[in-house]
Amino acid sequence: MNSVPNILWLEEIRKEDITSVGGKGASLGEMSSLGLPVPKAFVVTAQAFRRFLVETGLEQKVYKSLDHLDVENNDALEKAADTAKGLVLKAKMPAAIRDEVKKAYRKMASDDLVVAVRSSATAEDLPDASFAGQQETYLNIRGEAALLTAVQKCWASLYGARAIYYRAKQGFDDHTVNIAVVVQQLVNSEKAGVMFTSHPITGEPLTIIEGSWGLGESVVSGSVSPDKYEFDQRTEKVVNRLISNKKIEIIADGGHGTKVMEVATGRQDVQVLSDAEVEKLAMYGKIAENHYGIPQDVEWGIVKDAFYILQSRPITTIGTKKSGQGASAEKSGVKESHKILVQGQGASPGIASGKVAIIRDVKDTGSVKEGDILVTRMTNPDMVPAMKKVAAIVTDEGGMTCHAAIVSRELGTPAVVGTKNATSLLNPGQMITVDGEKGLIYEGVIEQPVQKQQAVSQQAGIGSAPIVTATSVKVNVSIPEAAARAAATGADGVGLLRIEHLILGLNKTPGWFITNHREEEFVRELHDGIKIVLDAFPGKPVWVRTLDAPTDEFRNMMGGENEPHEHNPMLGWRGIRRDLQSPDQFRLQVEAFKQLWKEGYENLGVMFPMVSHPDQFVQAKEMMRGWGVDVENVTLGIMIEIPSSAILVEDFLTCGIKFASFGTNDLIQYTLAIDRNNENVADMYQPKHPAVLHLIHDAIQTCRKYSVECSICGQAGSDPKMVEWLVEHGIASVSANIDAIAKIRETVARTEKRIILEAARNRNAE
Ligand code: PEP
Ligand code: MG
Repeated sequence: MNSVPNILWLEEIRKEDITSVGGKGASLGEMSSLGLPVPKAFVVTAQAFRRFLVETGLEQKVYKSLDHLDVENNDALEKAADTAKGLVLKAKMPAAIRDEVKKAYRKMASDDLVVAVRSSATAEDLPDASFAGQQETYLNIRGEAALLTAVQKCWASLYGARAIYYRAKQGFDDHTVNIAVVVQQLVNSEKAGVMFTSHPITGEPLTIIEGSWGLGESVVSGSVSPDKYEFDQRTEKVVNRLISNKKIEIIADGGHGTKVMEVATGRQDVQVLSDAEVEKLAMYGKIAENHYGIPQDVEWGIVKDAFYILQSRPITTIGTKKSGQGASAEKSGVKESHKILVQGQGASPGIASGKVAIIRDVKDTGSVKEGDILVTRMTNPDMVPAMKKVAAIVTDEGGMTCHAAIVSRELGTPAVVGTKNATSLLNPGQMITVDGEKGLIYEGVIEQPVQKQQAVSQQAGIGSAPIVTATSVKVNVSIPEAAARAAATGADGVGLLRIEHLILGLNKTPGWFITNHREEEFVRELHDGIKIVLDAFPGKPVWVRTLDAPTDEFRNMMGGENEPHEHNPMLGWRGIRRDLQSPDQFRLQVEAFKQLWKEGYENLGVMFPMVSHPDQFVQAKEMMRGWGVDVENVTLGIMIEIPSSAILVEDFLTCGIKFASFGTNDLIQYTLAIDRNNENVADMYQPKHPAVLHLIHDAIQTCRKYSVECSICGQAGSDPKMVEWLVEHGIASVSANIDAIAKIRETVARTEKRIILEAARNRNAE
């Protein structure tokens, strides 16, 4: 932890650095490494914030102000927040940190560059928690003094009332949540907005883009009703355009922050984006989604012809439809005969009835009662405590991608936004029913017929006409939250479940759990996470891979200080080699598998990563036997990701592996000596290099000889061209990313048909 510097530049950051740079910072670093147009930036790390707390002697004082706080008590919450924020704001920033921030700023540009200063909470943007809008952003900051003040204000915003409330409700510990600050060249967007790379509720391959004039803050904060565009990725066409009346825009105000301006009447109803611009943004979104393997919520901006991707974070709500208080979790079953009072955009699904509580000022949220329907001009992150209490939310303004709408979805509170005039058409105390899916508000209380939960595949509108293929088409899963969407693709199983993502999410290394005698907790977390995926794929094979995180990915977690500093972690202590030398760590994973097998999950297979010699497989198997696993009757297999395991596959087969799967991400890097994370050699990273194909071809043929399933779970398995080649060469199954399944299934089917047709034609010609 000590070794992490106070400042990290975007080019130095990867997604693994989330504990140092927060979700926003990690995502920007990762996006810039993909070649997306990200404005230049550096990050004041979470470690710098910790040093600030420790060196100023504030740490304990801040914690004390939050201890035993009842977050439901608005007054107490505000008071505690004011105390903690005041402490942080008044303290003097240590000279070393101050100097480094100033130095980095000067390095960005010779004269005073205008920057955006954004908070990036280090538990933020994790797949199961959106801290959207909980911490502050300061735009249009110029000069060293203003920058330092903005950084300190961002730090203080970690202790804002809504941030404290939100963390308490989501189960985050105030003592361990950190904050990093992203300092980024400000893009003075002429038009800007947000994009969901897939539908935020159903997960359909529909890119949804909201855009308005000026800086994106107007869309993000919900202070304008933006244009809305839908781009269907299947047909690659813009299928919907909703042009709104955009009354205001937020623009830079000289050297001091931003100002809200009225949009000239002639421009208010003008379409913000052309089809070509929608298409280009959707393409950038797709690159981010494909890279992360999960739909993204992206902020973008355009200046003349230049496109900028400003931030990207996972969408946390797909497939997690929850019901709010008094709400029905089902899809709309409201009969058309009921009188519709107001309509808007369905931003958070569910149906709820209740009494209208109109809130014109955030200060009045205290009057909102449990079960009311909160009706307000625009949803606002400050209203989170009230949003939690109410049965539904209705707003005049805002789009379905504004931050507060995201939060209402995560809280499971039905919401309809952008109704234009709900605050003037509805009356305080009036009984209404809100349909958060259809975006409709009905008069009176409408009793809901009890309906069966819709199948996820129906929600997602996928899998309606399954294509049957001889080659199994499976899906890769990294986080249990994605299990439902993965299953909705109709995939034939899970070809790779990477459990290190479960562990990284805990923010503590396996070693920490062992040293602190918290083994049971570790096993339970693993067991519960894997079970979610198994439950989503009943009767279908789910290959769970044992831990494979390079040491640098563990470094910033609790216990990470004990991780060795390796010259090249990619070639270091990871995968099966580490487990075999760390029996305690391996045993805990096996314990979780054992429990699941005992509970009847026979579909669970275990896959060993980074094996280079059959002896490692034998040793792992014997250790498992020693811990009471019936090793001959469970499914154990290997990843082929080191050339030696491809070359020696026959020896593995005679040792009893039940399956093998190509981890091409590593197989390519180890065959070609190309670091997969090094952009300097990225153009030499060739999945279809003849040497790689040679290894794969031979290993497939050998597995076929032994009738053992040979598969692929590396990224190349999501590339239709590569999959065509693999099917032609006899692969038994492929495992692809969720978004690629439909395309891969189609490719497999087409290739299989072509092979059959060619064989028949050849027979006829003989
Ligand atoms: C691979 O190497 O192809 C693979 C799937 O494993 P990871 O990407 O997790 O290294
Ligand atoms: Mg690998």
